[in-house]
Amino acid sequence: MASETQVKQYLAYWFQLGKKLVVEKSGETLLPEPIFHGDRYSQAFNDCWELCVSPDSGDCYLEGTQQTVRQLLEPQWDIDPCARCQMPVPILLHGTPSCATCPCHDLSFWPNDELPKPRLQVNTQVSLRELCRRIAETGDGPSSSSHSRSNLNS
Ligand SMILES: [Zn+2]
Repeated sequence: MASETQVKQYLAYWFQLGKKLVVEKSGETLLPEPIFHGDRYSQAFNDCWELCVSPDSGDCYLEGTQQTVRQLLEPQWDIDPCARCQMPVPILLHGTPSCATCPCHDLSFWPNDELPKPRLQVNTQVSLRELCRRIAETGDGPSSSSHSRSNLNS
């Protein structure tokens, strides 16, 4: 079963490629802007999420897909990277083979190595801490500097 965190990531990634959320009941399509606020989801994103999980708003799903957000939170669904583009896509775990297609199927510009990959919110403190830890682990002598540089690039 996909966790709430995974489903939020799934939406956040596709929103960055311009995929909108379809609210079937009202016929609206939503694209929260901005998606992130610092290291957290923005208010616009959270409002959108609340709408998705609210029983009053009917079915909400990503443009070009059939799986509703509430379905993805049920036990038979999981979220895995697409074989073609590495973006998170819904996968049916049990029963009939999955007929889910990645939302990338109608994006002619995707996958595209020249575009920046969608990302999650940046947590500068964590990444700096991680960097410091890696530098500390590779030692502080000049002989190890080329080694640590190649690690960072990989
Ligand atoms: Zn794909």
